[in-house]
Amino acid sequence: MIEDQLKAVLATITEDATLIAVSKTKPVSALLEAYNAGQRHFGENKVQEMELKYEALPKDIHWHMIGHLQSNKVKYIAPFVHLIHSVDSIKLLQEINKQGEKNNRVIKCLLQFHIAEEETKFGLSLSEAVELLNMQEYAEMKNIEIVGVMGMASLTEDQNKIHDEFHFLKSLFDGLKSGYFAEQESFKEISMGMSGDYKIALLEGSTMVRVGSSIFGSR
Ligand SMILES: *Cc1c(COP(=O)(O)O)cnc(C)c1O
Repeated sequence: MIEDQLKAVLATITEDATLIAVSKTKPVSALLEAYNAGQRHFGENKVQEMELKYEALPKDIHWHMIGHLQSNKVKYIAPFVHLIHSVDSIKLLQEINKQGEKNNRVIKCLLQFHIAEEETKFGLSLSEAVELLNMQEYAEMKNIEIVGVMGMASLTEDQNKIHDEFHFLKSLFDGLKSGYFAEQESFKEISMGMSGDYKIALLEGSTMVRVGSSIFGSR
């Protein structure tokens, strides 16, 4: 059943976009079913859960940390995480850089922006991102690489509003791409879209969709 649902989702995704199968709360057996159907990118939102699944599953999986990340937990995923989507402070970025150095690797990150109406969602404003990117501490970091942006739209039935919020994130991306990251070819990812809104996100330029319940069933 997971294989069928995965294939149904893949059939609706443009070839140049990456599907991240969000497997939080699901057992290893469910991830293995998706893996055996060819899926290699998985998203988790809890450090300990990701670590346990990393230990249990094949090592060619790309692990995406999509949830809010506390600085003191970065060390547990630093050896293997493929991309951290939820960078929202210089403090967190410094810790990721420190752990990247310890593990002798460059850890790829996305800047998470607050694009939804709800106050509860995490993320930077444009001015906060600009402040971060202008910091000397950021300029000196050698073990992180910011490769794009991430955001979550409001939970609403209003399709126009979702379009507008994703459009806004794309415009933030474009602004950074032509400014701060003009010289950095690897800055190219826009992580937006979940089960309920990924088709809109793709229309608005998403390069990575994070889909959970449409593949693995409701949580
Ligand atoms: C849970 C989660 C998803 C996936 O949500 P679904 O509605 O199950 O597709 C995507 N992104 C983030 C940040 C999440 O926490």
